[in-house]
Amino acid sequence: MKDLHSIPKPAVLHPQEGVFQCSGLPEISGDGCFHQVIEVVRDQLAHDVPAASPGSGSEKRIICTKALDMEEEAYHLQIRPEGISLTGASERGIYHGLQTLRQWILSAYKDRGLSLPCVAIEDYPRFPWRGFMLDTSRYFYTVPFIKKLIDALSLHHLNVFHWHLTDDQGWRLPVDAYPLLTEIGSKRQEHRFKGRYTGGFYTEGDIRDVVAYAARRQVEVVPEVDLPGHASAILAAYPGLGCTGGPYRVEDRFGIFEDVLCAGNDGIFELSSAVFDTLATLFPSPYVHIGGDEVWFNRWEACPKCQRRVQEIGLSSPRDLQSWISMRLVRMLTERGKIAIGWDEVLEDTEQCRLPKELVVMSWRGTEGGKAASKRGHKVIMTPNTQGCYLDYRHVDDPEEPGQLFLTSSVYDAYSMNPVQGIHSEQAAAIMGGQGNLWSELIYAGKFAEYMIFPRICALAEALWTPLSLKDFDDFSRRLQVHQKRLDMLGIVQYRGSLGGV
Ligand SMILES: [Zn+2]
Repeated sequence: MKDLHSIPKPAVLHPQEGVFQCSGLPEISGDGCFHQVIEVVRDQLAHDVPAASPGSGSEKRIICTKALDMEEEAYHLQIRPEGISLTGASERGIYHGLQTLRQWILSAYKDRGLSLPCVAIEDYPRFPWRGFMLDTSRYFYTVPFIKKLIDALSLHHLNVFHWHLTDDQGWRLPVDAYPLLTEIGSKRQEHRFKGRYTGGFYTEGDIRDVVAYAARRQVEVVPEVDLPGHASAILAAYPGLGCTGGPYRVEDRFGIFEDVLCAGNDGIFELSSAVFDTLATLFPSPYVHIGGDEVWFNRWEACPKCQRRVQEIGLSSPRDLQSWISMRLVRMLTERGKIAIGWDEVLEDTEQCRLPKELVVMSWRGTEGGKAASKRGHKVIMTPNTQGCYLDYRHVDDPEEPGQLFLTSSVYDAYSMNPVQGIHSEQAAAIMGGQGNLWSELIYAGKFAEYMIFPRICALAEALWTPLSLKDFDDFSRRLQVHQKRLDMLGIVQYRGSLGGV
């Protein structure tokens, strides 16, 4: 056995002569700067392979060494009969290398011993942004589930957890100056469940806990608060911020709703300011996602305050208010040292209010938004619903499969995702990478979410990490058979039907 079938596939893998053998697990040691990463991986292995504590095979070692001349996320891994050496320039690189080893150990630890084929690996990512988004508004997911998910993402060298914290169906972020956002906005009456209230929110302590847990796994947590649409939960808490004044309720239906924040009310910027201050305090990531998707304009068109605003700033129609709001929100984030991300709708109707170039566009309605944004000088993250990135879609068109009716997205579709496909080479550098998204309208529990996420996220991880020239779906499918046993060992629920494709 010369390859232990890791996912994503390493960029360069040279089989070598010999076998590394060790009773128990090898001790991990290394330069002081890698102390924290080594601690995390020791804990992971103690959890993954409870029969063997790390260091129990102490005659052999994994030695982590700092190299100065490597890319941030790259690593070199050399397995020799006498020991394993791992080099990287940063904690990120070393962590990725240790996760590749963790995958192999999960497969190869047997009968109180470890046996690995000797190899030399030089590995590095194809794209810097390799993400996953979880919608925690449509259904509330617990902190232990989110942590389990982040750990599993990091096993695949994914490095961004995009946390969708607010939507029509629930506001999950505590904001001191606006206590009703969580007091009222985090709960909804479920007509499907005899009118009982469901929901919840994350405390500041929860959020700091998740952010720190993710950081130790080299995963950046990017928060999203959706503005100015998808605002039912905000309006239920503060009805004065809507065009009609309400009454409003935290929605238990799913879809797009006509009530959005009133563009003529300065209070929406006071609220945004308080929300951004909270995000800046809790999330160290330079990025904040401001949503900006699926805004209907009929309330603005009928609202005297919104019409007055249109006249004051000399816009030609209430539709232009969305880009005017986006522009202001982007500036407010810039003042706080943050970079705004928006869904691709933010590009529309921007003839009059030019969007600042620093706004990053997340292309979800196919790739056209991303292409247009890259031509206009924006950085882009590709997450097209047409190319396997929407993990709430059914795996295959089968009435027995859960997920969105009439929409499918196979493992093959996810594997085929190529963020720069159809992008002119001059704009390719603007493409930061891509991500998978799990919208949770139909997915109300963690184990159910896992079924939708795995193994499609494994396929996306390879699409975002492995050099394009090495992508091979048949080869991936063979490795996946081995890899799914690892995910079983981690207690992850998985889809196991047809992978789709040819
Ligand atoms: Zn209005």
